[in-house]
Amino acid sequence: MKKKVLIIILSILLILLVLFIVFRKNIFSSTPKEKTIEDMINETEENEFLVNSYSIFGTHFNINACVDKVITNETSLVLKNLTEEIDLDSNFYNSDGKTCFKISNKNNTGIDLETLIQGNYILMVKESIVEESNDKEPTVTNYYYNLKNGTQNSDLEYYTITKNGTNNKININYKNQEKIYKENKEEKKQTKNYLQFIISESKLPDNVYDIAIDPGHGGIDPGATYNLNGTTYIESNITLNISQLLKSELENMGLKVLITRDDDSYLDPYGVGGRTTIINSSNAKISLSIHMNSDYGIMKYGGVEVYVPNNIDYTLAKSFANNIAKIVGYSKNPSFKVGDGIYFKYFTPQLIEQAKQENLANGMLAYDIKEGAPYMFMIREIGGLNTMAYNDGRNAKYPKNEYYTSIQTAEPYLIETAYLNYANDLNLLVNEPQRFSEAISSALKEYLNIS
Ligand SMILES: [Zn+2]
Repeated sequence: MKKKVLIIILSILLILLVLFIVFRKNIFSSTPKEKTIEDMINETEENEFLVNSYSIFGTHFNINACVDKVITNETSLVLKNLTEEIDLDSNFYNSDGKTCFKISNKNNTGIDLETLIQGNYILMVKESIVEESNDKEPTVTNYYYNLKNGTQNSDLEYYTITKNGTNNKININYKNQEKIYKENKEEKKQTKNYLQFIISESKLPDNVYDIAIDPGHGGIDPGATYNLNGTTYIESNITLNISQLLKSELENMGLKVLITRDDDSYLDPYGVGGRTTIINSSNAKISLSIHMNSDYGIMKYGGVEVYVPNNIDYTLAKSFANNIAKIVGYSKNPSFKVGDGIYFKYFTPQLIEQAKQENLANGMLAYDIKEGAPYMFMIREIGGLNTMAYNDGRNAKYPKNEYYTSIQTAEPYLIETAYLNYANDLNLLVNEPQRFSEAISSALKEYLNIS
């Protein structure tokens, strides 16, 4: 009997000893160790996706990247932290032994920065392996891949459009951390690269605006002029009038608006105080250049022409064109037309040659203009890398556009509201300018989801 009691006591002691060994870490640490973001990054796959390009154009973020292996399982792009995982639309494809993704084929679509929810996230690629089983639910195992910056560009900072007086600040940062692990009793180090999104509420700094408006021409540059019944109508005056009306309408929606000129000043195209510099340094999300058209001698067009950047989704452009067409109709100009009232004038080989000859005739060097680059400088030079801006300062006559290779730019539009030399258009431009400003502001209101 005594022997039996002894065996029981010894067994209990043995069980306690085993439990102690197994759980000693938890007994000695005051709180159980919770998983951290660092752990989450350390647990990612050894291979990383190398980012080939990324940019912010208007209100959208775009990125594409490849990994040096072919992934045949289901892949998706996610913004992830310890508690949340947000699936993002993206296109994955395999080529040349690599798996790549691209969020969008258009410059102004992709991740809508306006809709992201506050928090700290890591942008990762998720690979999901599904194992089917006859008698049970299929099991899904997820593997995560980090993103490493493979470009010369660095971190981005974005402020969302002002809504109800508030803004979010989004910091998109490339980071890395050392992972220390043991292999064959040897301590080893591995660098883990990752792409972080930090989204927090923040007031707009003084130099950050929601929208930029550029009233075309000014001062010694009147733009188009037209004489009717003894009165000379000047484009630069009418563009200023409509732009100022537009500015106050947008401000009434709670937006912070920059105007490039508020009087009849002349503005240089480039350099300090130049149009492109003012708009680019405003950090505006959308820029609008307001103009009036003219076609002396032709007299068969009239109406609205909205000039757009290359490779974009036309939702906002359509809305501008449709709203203004209700006042003056769509232009009948067939050149470079891509939709009703929507125009994309770009450099053709002929126009490149023409620009080259003009530069040479003026004693200037020719620019490296790529075929398909937007022709209108107020679109091209505002859009940086995305719209193929090219003024790199090789000609002293035009100081360098400091933003010509920028990867974070406003989405620019040039609106030829109507034709100055058409009596009906001119009458409306002069006597009912608020109809034009309201057509533009209501299109923006809808596009930006402002209540
Ligand atoms: Zn003009």
